[in-house]
Amino acid sequence: MDCGVDRGTTAAAVAADEAREIERRYRTLVEQLPLVVYVDALDEGSSNIFTSGQIEPLLGYTVEEWRDDPNLFVRTLHPDDRDRVLAAHARTHRTHEPLRLEYRLVARDGRVVWVRDDGVIVLDDAGEPLYLQGYLLDITAERELQEQLRLQALFDPLTGLANRAFFHEQLEHAVAMRTEDGAGTAVVFVDLNEFKQINDQHGHSVGDEVLAALGGRLKSVIRAGDSVARLGGDEFAVLLTAVREPAEAAIVAERLLEQITAPIDVAGRHLSLTASVGIALGSSGTELLKQADAAMYRAKLHGDVDYAFYDDDLDQTALNRFKRIAELREAIVEKEFSLAYQPVVNLDPFEVVGLEALLRWQHPTLGEIPPLDFIPLAEESGLIVQIGRWVLLEACFYASRLRELLGRDLEIAVNVSARQLQHPEFVDHVDNALERADLPPHLLTLELTESVLVASGERAEQQLNALKDRGVKLALDDFGTGYASLTYLQRLPVDIVKIDRSFTAKIDSGAADLALLEGIVGLGKALGLQLVAEGIERDAQQGIVQGLGCHGAQGFHFGRPAAAAAATQALSGDTVESSVG
Ligand code: C2E
Ligand code: MG
Ligand code: MG
Repeated sequence: MDCGVDRGTTAAAVAADEAREIERRYRTLVEQLPLVVYVDALDEGSSNIFTSGQIEPLLGYTVEEWRDDPNLFVRTLHPDDRDRVLAAHARTHRTHEPLRLEYRLVARDGRVVWVRDDGVIVLDDAGEPLYLQGYLLDITAERELQEQLRLQALFDPLTGLANRAFFHEQLEHAVAMRTEDGAGTAVVFVDLNEFKQINDQHGHSVGDEVLAALGGRLKSVIRAGDSVARLGGDEFAVLLTAVREPAEAAIVAERLLEQITAPIDVAGRHLSLTASVGIALGSSGTELLKQADAAMYRAKLHGDVDYAFYDDDLDQTALNRFKRIAELREAIVEKEFSLAYQPVVNLDPFEVVGLEALLRWQHPTLGEIPPLDFIPLAEESGLIVQIGRWVLLEACFYASRLRELLGRDLEIAVNVSARQLQHPEFVDHVDNALERADLPPHLLTLELTESVLVASGERAEQQLNALKDRGVKLALDDFGTGYASLTYLQRLPVDIVKIDRSFTAKIDSGAADLALLEGIVGLGKALGLQLVAEGIERDAQQGIVQGLGCHGAQGFHFGRPAAAAAATQALSGDTVESSVG
């Protein structure tokens, strides 16, 4: 019996020893593993049952903190990953499927640690779930490497620009996303001319520095939303995601060329470069890049052009027109417009009674462009509405200031285009200008040409009547050059008729011209209109139009259009010349 008891006690002791041995073996193993082993309960809060000591070097929290603070895990989850991780845990609790996901934890010192979390539900002998057991493996280095590789795969290390592969991706994306508003995608392909010489003469490191510098410059002139890439060697490409007119792409090409040809100082050397540029527009995806490349070759072969379009139809005249429209758009933003003011006189008694506001465009490279060279384009493109609104406001402000300065009423005449008159809010635009400038409506005259009236239709008539009701005056400009018939003059609420310069130009030399003018003046007077003779350059002309009964006149004889400051000075100094006054 004793023996038996002894044997039993010994067997139990041996079993306990074995168990301890096994436990030691596993504990050492668990403590040696380069990862955190954990066991979590399957309760609501996934309370922690066991966590191995590696949690401390990984996140800076002790095993006890990790076990005792029920919210610590959730708090260390990176905010961007939190929902995803909690959802995955909940799913495993529910379905007992293994857990496997990668996410970020924020360590006590703020470090972001990427982990792979791999867990399984452990079941008892009856198949009932006991707990979740798994490990957290630190994969931060792996992730960083992946990110680095991703960047390397997308960007050119020398310039930091997108590389060819990434450019393709961006291009596909841009074409797929193309908006419905009529804007298209364009690719501008840039190839440096004779870049090889720089490498040959100055060495590759200088060549690299030049490319890096150019990369930065090209990037600096690209709009947000567009992108620039280095395709390899000395080739660059720019993706324009929203191009409305071919000229916009041409302007970008010119801007890029400006950056390329500006001298570069590298390693004490003063270098200058040129490039050939090709442009392709459309929606053909990666085809665009090939087309732009082909266009670049054309430019290169041509010799005397810097850039060429892939599309032959974009010939020079069309392009210039497009370009001018794009420039007009830019002129609004860049505030390149100004107004000149020309006196309008009353003939008897002689007195300056008003000014006509005349639009001027100071083009950044071409200098002043006459209104007749750009107003038709502004009309065609619809930009005249915006420009005309500015003219109206500016002229009213000026007239109001002048009125205050001189202490007397002066009329201001503003030219109006058909497109403006057709605008449903034109009357509001006028109201707004008068109100903001604090100018009485009867001091504003709107000048409309006959063609404007013919083109504007019925809506215009309503608008004109509405303006008339407010006291605004209406003048028929350039009378005699258009199609205005008596019917128009009778039907429209016109106060003033300005007789075109072509009728007054030779009245002091040819009898026939005089007869014509006489007829017009007679007609106007019969209709009870106020008549203003345009283009009076000489004393003799002034005498004749006055003799015929014109009420007013305008022309170089009384004053040329002048900038606001000069116009103000002329009026306050009363320097307007006249043989009568
Ligand atoms: P317009 O309204 O008939 O303006 C008179 C034009 O004749 C002005 O030309 C003026 O400089 C010119 N002129 C005045 N006196 C004489 C003269 O004695 N001899 C000669 N040879 N010319 C004289 P400008 O400034 O070139 O304007 C041309 C036209 O452009 C204007 O003709 C008007 O139709 C249009 N325009 C000017 N500003 C605007 C504007 O703000 N809006 C619109 N829609 N059209 C404008
Ligand atoms: Mg006029
Ligand atoms: Mg005129």
